[in-house]
Amino acid sequence: MAKKQEPSPKTMRVLFVAAEADPIIKVGGLGDVTGTLPREIRALEPSMTSGNRMDVRLAIPYHSAIRKRMPDLQPVVSFNVPHPDGPIAARAFLTQVGELPVYMIDGAPIPQDAPVYSLDAGEDGEKFTFFSLAVLELARALDWPPDILHANDWHTALAVYALALRRSQEQDSFFANTRTMLSVHNLPFMGAGTDEAMEAYGIPPLDDDRLPLWGGYQPLPMGLATADYLTTVSPTYAREILTPEFGCGLENFLQSRSDTIAGILNGLDMNLWDPHTDTALAVNFDSETLDKRLANKQALIREFGLPANLDLPLLVMVTRMDRQKGVDLAIEGLRDVAGIPWQAILLGSGDPGLEAAARTLEAEFPYRVRTITRFDPHLARRLYGGGDMLLMPSRYEPGGLAQMIAMRYGCIPVVRATGGLRDTVKDSSNPKESNGFRFEEESPEALAAVVRRGVAAYAEPKTWRERQLNGMAQDFSWQRSALAYVKIYQQLIETKI
Ligand code: ADP
Repeated sequence: MAKKQEPSPKTMRVLFVAAEADPIIKVGGLGDVTGTLPREIRALEPSMTSGNRMDVRLAIPYHSAIRKRMPDLQPVVSFNVPHPDGPIAARAFLTQVGELPVYMIDGAPIPQDAPVYSLDAGEDGEKFTFFSLAVLELARALDWPPDILHANDWHTALAVYALALRRSQEQDSFFANTRTMLSVHNLPFMGAGTDEAMEAYGIPPLDDDRLPLWGGYQPLPMGLATADYLTTVSPTYAREILTPEFGCGLENFLQSRSDTIAGILNGLDMNLWDPHTDTALAVNFDSETLDKRLANKQALIREFGLPANLDLPLLVMVTRMDRQKGVDLAIEGLRDVAGIPWQAILLGSGDPGLEAAARTLEAEFPYRVRTITRFDPHLARRLYGGGDMLLMPSRYEPGGLAQMIAMRYGCIPVVRATGGLRDTVKDSSNPKESNGFRFEEESPEALAAVVRRGVAAYAEPKTWRERQLNGMAQDFSWQRSALAYVKIYQQLIETKI
């Protein structure tokens, strides 16, 4: 019998651009997202994307650290980046992450010996200005006009702006059908100090009434004002940035764009974070074998010389020691609840003042608090796998990964209701609808009150287990996020939002 012919898929071309991407080069959370999301989008079957084959490609700078690790690569294409004093030569090297092609762009303005992000705003300004212009020339050199240009944070926001300038000048038909998206992972970093580089490259400031004056001279607001669509990494954060508290001075402008801003939660790499296979744990477990989990708590208590009483709820923190993370609220709040039963292990590094404050807490409560001030991914896993509650009282949290990892490992998150924490943690008096505990107010008292609730709930094992299982059953897969992005790409292409 003749096989029924499937309609041949259309191709959607997406050029993803970013400063970093795991596993090629990772400095922070941005690298986690750009190392996974484009791959997940590329992997979507045409049946899930209205018949589109997703030809996603990623471009990052050929940072010196990459060059040192991959010195033998040959450039696949050479091109010029426009500059008022004459074109600057650029080359792209190609590698693959899984099925994803990754172009790494090289040229004199990408320093041969410098970190991904330097402390010198001027140096970074030129590097990322050059890179942002270069990605457009790369597409042209490959004769590969993207349907979507997807930029991330200030480092690549100028690619969006430069493309909009070209479109408005109607001198560049190559990008006539390219739509742009700019994702904000970290709003406070806007690229201040790039104005000199922009001027040198002939990129004019943006005169837009909706922006504060300074916004016309910094890459992120320039991109935000000219991208066809904006995203943040959680729905709540997408709303929060419209307010003075979180908007960093751009709240009025962002309000004017609120119908073209979406929040899409990041996913979690479900293979990398799996209590069933995690070799860092003393004992593996899953939702079917949750009872085994207790052995991990036992191992932690023994390791850190805490009283061997398994009935005491074990509170853990795994965090950067930063004001953003509310570490001070946790320390102060725990003092407030010294009268109820709990013990705690705090893991974090960063701000020396906060590290010292956490050590002081241990000195005050040596029989129930341990503080470890280092970056220790192995210990972090053991804490997720053995702790009863993860404290995460962030002042702001665009997305947040730690609360998702904790839930996957049966460790119940106790969070401030902000950004991605509000979107992922459900707190209800009905344990069937609850996977954690939330508090609203940014104060040690509010944290203390929620810890009291958590400790009381812990005393009821049956409903506690329900909460754990609810958390473990959450779908944090990247595929869900990937589909949400593609849906917006499609709207952009079809309806020309
Ligand atoms: P952010 O990116 O703002 O620091 P997230 O919650 O999104 O916060 O991600 C934090 C990630 O870093 C998690 O994977 C967490 O386990 C890890 N992490 C944070 N602090 C430490 C530490 N001291 N040791 C090991 N891992 C840590």
